[in-house]
This record gives sequence, C-alpha cells and structure tokens, in this order.
Amino acid sequence: MQRALGDVGRAVSSTLDLKLVLKTIVGRAVFLSETDAGSIFYYHEQTGRFELGETTGLDDEVLARLSRLDISARETGLGEAITKREPLQIPDLMQRASDPLRDAVVAAGFRASLIVALLGAEAPLGTLILRRRRPGEFSANVVSLMQAFADQSVIALENARLFDEIARKSHELEIASQHKSQFVANMSHELRTPLAAMLGYAELLQEGIYGAPPEKFLPILTRIRSNGKHLLGLINTVLDISKIEAGQFKLNLGEYALGSIVDTVMGATESLAATKKLAFKTEVAKGLPYGVGDEQRLTQVLLNLVGNAIKFTDAGEVRITAGAENGHFELSVSDTGPGIPPEECERIFEKFRQVDSSNTRAKGGTGLGLAIAREIVEMHGGRIWVESTMGRGSTFRMELPMRAAVAASAA
Ligand code: ADP
Repeated sequence: MQRALGDVGRAVSSTLDLKLVLKTIVGRAVFLSETDAGSIFYYHEQTGRFELGETTGLDDEVLARLSRLDISARETGLGEAITKREPLQIPDLMQRASDPLRDAVVAAGFRASLIVALLGAEAPLGTLILRRRRPGEFSANVVSLMQAFADQSVIALENARLFDEIARKSHELEIASQHKSQFVANMSHELRTPLAAMLGYAELLQEGIYGAPPEKFLPILTRIRSNGKHLLGLINTVLDISKIEAGQFKLNLGEYALGSIVDTVMGATESLAATKKLAFKTEVAKGLPYGVGDEQRLTQVLLNLVGNAIKFTDAGEVRITAGAENGHFELSVSDTGPGIPPEECERIFEKFRQVDSSNTRAKGGTGLGLAIAREIVEMHGGRIWVESTMGRGSTFRMELPMRAAVAASAA
C-alpha cells in the first residue's frame, strides 16, 4: 500500500497533466482494492451537477451511457458523500432508491459502491468511486486507502487549478503590459506635436519675426528653447523604449559614412565638453568604406555615449575612435571619469538601471539611454559593451557589421 501511494505521489508531483494523474490514481485504486471499476466525477458547484471524468474498468457502452446522464447532487450517492464529507458505503445498490446514475450502474452489473468526496480548500471538487460486482461492505483498509487516494486527487486538482490561474494571470498581465506600452508610445508621440509648436514659436520670437524682442527677453527665450529641447529628448527616449517594448521599433536602413556620424556627434557635443573644460578628441581611420545601417539611430547611440562620457567626467578628456577590423566597424568612446564598478558593467545596459551612487543621482538621467543603445546596436547585428577601471575612466566599445543584416529592417 505504501508503494502504491508512493507511485501516486510521484505521478502527482512529476506532471501537470491532470488527466494522466487522475487516470493513474483511479487505476491504482481499483487494482489495490481488488474491485472491478472506478471513476472520478467532477463536481460543478454553480450548477450542482457532476460530470464524468477519468475511469477504469467500464466498457464503452456503459461509459457512453454515464457521460450522457444529467447527474445532480440531489438524491445521488455522489451528492450524499459530498454533504457528509466522509466515505459513503453502498453495500447493495439494489437496496438503494432509484436515481439515473444508480440505475445505469446496476444495469451494467455492479452491486456495491464506495464513494469518497474530493474536498478542495474552497469547494468540493468531485468524487472518487470504486465499484464492485459482488455486493457487500468494503473493508476498513480499502476505505482508508481510498481516502489517501482522494487526498492525492485533491492535490492534483488544486495544482492544475493554480497552474491554470497563473497561466491566465500571466496572459492578462502580458496584454495589460502591451496596452501600457502602446499607450505610452501613443502618448509620447502626441506630446511631441504641441512641444514642437512651442519650440518653433520661441525660435520665431527670438529671431524677431514678431518684432524685435526687448534685450532682456533674449536669455529667457534661450532658456525656454533649451528646456524645451531637453523635454523633447526625454519624450523621445520614452517613445523609443515603449516602441521597443511594444515590438514596434524599426530600423531605417541606408548608406552612411561613419566619419560623418562622428563629425555630427562632435558638432553637437563639443561646446558641452568645452563648458566642462574637457579635451575632446576624435580618431577616425582613413578610407573607411560606407556602411549600411540606420544612420540616425547610430548617431543617437554615439550621442548617448558621448553625452554620458561628458556628463560623468569632471576633468580630463573624452575620446571617440572609429576604425575597421576583420570586416566590421569598431567604435569606442572613452572618458577619464569615475569609472563603473565591474558588477555594474553589464547591468547598466538594462532598462532604468543606474549605478547607485550619489554621483549618478546628482547628474540626473533616466537610465534608459544604454538600453536603447544596446537594442539599436543589436538590431544592426552588432554588440556593445563597456570596459572600465574605477577612478581611471570608462571605454564603451561597439562592433558593427559594415552591412546591417537585411532582417533588421523587417524586425
Ligand atoms: P542615464 O545616463 O540616463 O542615467 P544610461 O542608460 O545612459 O542612463 O546610463 C546608465 C547608467 O550607467 C548611468 O546612470 C551611470 O550610472 C552609468 N554610466 C553610463 N555611462 C557612464 C560613464 N561614461 N561613466 C560612468 N558611469 C556611466
């Protein structure tokens, strides 16, 4: 008996295939109790009705008849076992009042039944039944064995229910998360339009299109424009990350010259470096071939790396190098900043991730730039990583195929 329970216990814990588990339980129960047939009925509490589940020892004709029956909890042995919450012996079915299930079972040649309720934590789940052709009581041994099997069936049923619930919940979460990403993508797109109008008007005012502005307005207009541009940058970052999450981030492939990307980035960041008194150096190898990729997105990546390098470095230099090696481009951005602890070097490429230092907090940022950069580089079929020594500085490196895989544009 211990072995049989062990077998059943293993079946319960080794598979989430509920039918298989219950089939094993019914089969073992009939075999060990030396009875002739057995079955599990599921109980549906809302309707108060039973439905035939796994069986053993019943021929197809009887099975077909049982599955067609409308078995209510009222006036059947199944309902009685559930109400009493203890095993119900029916030593002679002939002595019992007629009900559709009893009649079908008697017609199939059975005379005695033992019914055990499957009681879940919250509601009755069904019943386990043994049937015998010979009338008479079932021994105390068989009754306690059946109780143990019923307990195992309840565990299997509860596991399956929990598993279904988790699967359903994760599906719901996934859909909710997709809706959220879609909403954030739409929203940031919508925010850009009025912001662009405000920036445009500030520029027109500053250029005197509506008449020469008083001298003291000029620095204010400059501040409006630079704050507006900063806000636009933040919105674009949120738009990019939500597009990535919604699977709508796409590359726009074309020919580009790596040298001119470096020039553009240098042009945009040079004055920032000068304000911090940092030396700014670029080393672009001569005669680099044209590449195929998304020039705007690659510029964005390099801008982000150089922006970070300038942001986090207080003294020394920022250097961009670009070259070609073994058929791919190699790019690097080095700084003489604080460096990145080894355990953070991979993590900073995760969304929202910032090295938790007062330095980072003081410098601001969203923690999204590197996650977007990595996505862009990987969509090109390349890779990006950082090498850093604390207190000495960091070097962000990229390897890019000269021609981005065509699949990227269809991604
Ligand atoms: P953000 O700069 O907006 O916080 P990023 O994803 O661009 O987001 O960078 C993530 C984090 O990586 C930064 O907050 C910082 O902690 C670290 N980091 C990035 N670049 C550098 C760098 N050049 N030197 C030191 N730390 C850096």
